Amino acid sequence: MERLWAPWRAQYVSSVAHAESGCFLCEVLQSDSSRDRELLVVARWDHCFAILNRYPYNSGHVMVAPHRHVGDLEELSEAELCVLMLRTRDVVQALRRAFSPHGFNIGLNIGRAAGAGLPEHIHVHIVPRWHGDTNFLPVTADVKVVSHALEDVYERLRAELQQ
Ligand SMILES: [Zn+2]
Repeated sequence: MERLWAPWRAQYVSSVAHAESGCFLCEVLQSDSSRDRELLVVARWDHCFAILNRYPYNSGHVMVAPHRHVGDLEELSEAELCVLMLRTRDVVQALRRAFSPHGFNIGLNIGRAAGAGLPEHIHVHIVPRWHGDTNFLPVTADVKVVSHALEDVYERLRAELQQ
């Protein structure tokens, strides 16, 4: 992946280092859906769900995760694998409609050695890309600006996914 400058990720790296307890994907999944906006859950389906990355590599960075807390593709059933990819496609379509990206980076980091921030619970990263990227999201370390951008992305993407 072409390297993106995402200074707000420093906060993510330190928060991961300080909060090793539990699995935030399972916590989010078990929380009441009335908290979806606060927790950035954009969609819940059978077998998997989608959540905006609070510390995105780029604007519109979504993660699609299975309900089951497993760390490897081999531990998912064929049905779960199919649904995971189908819902990944749905998120890609919604991102296209909402933000007209020029491309996507889509992938899985399996294991810490591969850069997984949460190796125990597998998730597909969907990172929309635009020519020049920084035109879309202000390149800034200002957390307020980033969180405002997140709320905007959340509303637009959720609306598209509910159609
Ligand atoms: Zn989990």
